[in-house]
Amino acid sequence: MFPTINSKLPHVGTTIFTVMSGLATEYKAVNLGQGFPDFPMSEELTALVNEAMRNGFNQYAPMPGWVPLRESLAEKMEFLYQTKVNPDTEITITPGGTYAIYSAFTAILQPGDEVIVFEPAYDSYIPNIGINGAKAITINLVYPDYHIDWIAVQNAITPKTKAIIINSPHNPTGSVLEEKDIQELKNIVTGTNIFIISDEVYEHLIFDHIPHQSILRYPDLWQRSFVCFSFGKTYNCTGWKLGYCVAPVALTKEFRKVHQFNAFSCFTPTQVALTAFLKNKDAYLGLGSFMQEKRDYFKDLMRETRFSLHESFGSYFICGSYERISDEPDKDLAIRLTKEAGVATIPVSAFYHDEKDDNVLRFCFSKKKETLERAVERLSKL
Ligand code: PMP
Ligand code: GLN
Repeated sequence: MFPTINSKLPHVGTTIFTVMSGLATEYKAVNLGQGFPDFPMSEELTALVNEAMRNGFNQYAPMPGWVPLRESLAEKMEFLYQTKVNPDTEITITPGGTYAIYSAFTAILQPGDEVIVFEPAYDSYIPNIGINGAKAITINLVYPDYHIDWIAVQNAITPKTKAIIINSPHNPTGSVLEEKDIQELKNIVTGTNIFIISDEVYEHLIFDHIPHQSILRYPDLWQRSFVCFSFGKTYNCTGWKLGYCVAPVALTKEFRKVHQFNAFSCFTPTQVALTAFLKNKDAYLGLGSFMQEKRDYFKDLMRETRFSLHESFGSYFICGSYERISDEPDKDLAIRLTKEAGVATIPVSAFYHDEKDDNVLRFCFSKKKETLERAVERLSKL
């Protein structure tokens, strides 16, 4: 007899990103599904990693992260958001943004707690909450511009509400929070014990001169927040799986209790390299206009198709309605397009716990022009 697992995540399958990237490879499709750039990252940064390895920075970094990197990040955050963060006690380097979010949930959640999640939602949030014995209370973003209905949020608050997770710029929709949204959030949480987890991995991928509404701009909100970032998104190296969590000292203390017995520390050479590279402000300040150009190029190309694209103000993504092409469920269409048309996308129903289907697909435009052209040439035949 062998043991069987009583699953902690009985309703969870394989993530849609793995499924669609697998299909894209199998059918040699152009992959506009999973979010990652297909162009090279900075040569200067890769050279700095090589140099760090050659210089012998190959042993464990300190548990909270390479000290000079945390110092550079504190400087960057003060420059961008005018908030002073203590690099010693309030920043933790993590193996990716997803891990930072998971660790924040694990640090705060007790069985029976509730967390407010806006759907469509990045697909790790709800399983992260469930595995900690807590419950996701979902609120749909208002279709088609995917804004938050703050009255619905107020109505969803109960004595069990432990946290609200926000994500701006937003995956999968490309919507962004405005100052008035942060004000609404502030009105709701002030005087409560509710934590905020702010997923800001796309902080620099924001377009049309819109300022990113980081929680770090609002010191009183930050006092109850875990703010999560990803170097993978900022430096076009998603495979590095390196990020960080910024939280006030008492929250960071609990966060690190989780982190120190999980990853403990992160890959050292990249931390050393990023310390030097962060001094180059243009590398992150220029990312928004660089990616905006890709968004605009893709939008222009897509006029040749029968998709109706929604607006995207940030992230790698833009969503498109396919009403004029098919009335199939979005998952069926995404699979069929990969196999028959040779273009992989992500069905937006994958970002809803109840698979709500508005007949919308998500396209990743963080690709070389040739890749976008090849994809749209195929999509225009539909
Ligand atoms: N949050 C969102 C909304 C994302 O799209 C991603 C990208 N996968 C992450 C977090 C995590 O990024 P990382 O790859 O650094 O874990
Ligand atoms: N963030 C990326 C996306 O949304 C990929 C995440 C992943 O593969 N886990 O496509």
